[in-house]
Amino acid sequence: MSAVPLKTIDQSRPQQERVVTVLGATGSIGDSTMDLLRRGRDRYRVAAVTANSNVDALAKLAREFEVEYAAIADPTRFDDLKAALSGTGIACGAGEVAVIEAAARPSDWVMAAVSGAAGLKPALAAVDRGATVALANKECLVCAGEIFMQRALAAGAQVLPADSEHNALFQALSSGNREELTRVIITASGGPFRTWSVEQIEQATLEQALKHPNWSMGQKITIDSASMMNKGLEVIEAAHLFALSPDEIDVLVHPQSIIHGMVEFSDRSVVAQLGAPDMRTPIAHCLGWPDRIPGPAARLDLAAIGQLTFEVPDLKRFPGLRLAFEALRTGGGAPTVYNAANEIAVAAFVDRKIKFGMIARLVEATIETAVSNGSAKAPTTADDALAIDHNARNIAATLLPQIAAKAS
Ligand code: NAD
Ligand code: MG
Repeated sequence: MSAVPLKTIDQSRPQQERVVTVLGATGSIGDSTMDLLRRGRDRYRVAAVTANSNVDALAKLAREFEVEYAAIADPTRFDDLKAALSGTGIACGAGEVAVIEAAARPSDWVMAAVSGAAGLKPALAAVDRGATVALANKECLVCAGEIFMQRALAAGAQVLPADSEHNALFQALSSGNREELTRVIITASGGPFRTWSVEQIEQATLEQALKHPNWSMGQKITIDSASMMNKGLEVIEAAHLFALSPDEIDVLVHPQSIIHGMVEFSDRSVVAQLGAPDMRTPIAHCLGWPDRIPGPAARLDLAAIGQLTFEVPDLKRFPGLRLAFEALRTGGGAPTVYNAANEIAVAAFVDRKIKFGMIARLVEATIETAVSNGSAKAPTTADDALAIDHNARNIAATLLPQIAAKAS
């Protein structure tokens, strides 16, 4: 049959078993990843899994997937993990070093889905040995993006964006060249407070912040979605992943979360990736890459959805997004401080120590202090970035009572 030629799979390429590692296997992204691996048991072998403190969930996965190594970050849980794995022959370890060890062990593909800057060193251990790294953990790119991408380049590690918006951009970018790219557009659901007033957002409770309209995710990212700090982190993530300037990145509120990202090219074509809001789609793209594997998400039924709508993000009601663009323009260690202060602010909000509206104020005050006292210089090594992160956490913790007192 004569037709326009389409790219085809090279059938002569041997279909080898893929050995995989899942960092943060017990979380929301970890769960979606294990679901895909379960569906492809004949194609994947799991070398190592890690978790923070949930020994039972980790041991269950380790046994089910007959892994070689399981690591728990909480050092006090080592004996429990050993007991839970006794008789299986599965090696195990505890503490930060054990999580790094899990990442450093040989495998072809690594899902980096630890939450927060705590995921930086393990993700770097995977990058340094040249693994293909599916990166969900955006905080580690915001904390040390330049260093992370440089080390990936040096080791020949392929970084695959697992975050839905960046995965969409990655897919859309393949239809043009860098020189032809004029802008990328990251969509945002707008979160549970999209239509709320400043006053309502200020007083929002933890329960309200945890009610995301479209996505089911871990606690931290759900709160970040409500404050739109998540979109801010994603703007910085996109800048590092694709070497973009802040002017090349636009954010568009799209409450249905069907279009995940778009790329505009010089001919004014805009290429978008669409799909039901199910993280198993971008993760499946990373897992199958450079081919595609069957995905379990619901098929997209646009007629049933009926309408896709769009709004400009309101930087007054969502200052967290404004602060991300400012941190990116300030450069140096400002994005590192932005992320660290946000982690402290979210933890304080979860502990009901501060009101929702104070999250962005604490982040802004921390950045101001760190920039003015010279502790937000550009990090040159991962340890440098983690030192800036550590220092910013201290600044945020010091400022926290003042900010909380001012508001009450
Ligand atoms: P989660 O809280 O559900 O899971 C986090 C995982 O990391 C768990 O396995 C936990 O045990 C582990 N962990 C937490 N702290 C740790 C520490 N200090 N040391 C070692 N392990 C630790 O989070 P999640 O929603 O799965 O998100 C994981 C990452 O993926 C985050 O960076 C998030 O921003 C990103 N992400 C998540 C989604 C989503 O839909 N959930 C979408 C895009 C990006
Ligand atoms: Mg996202």
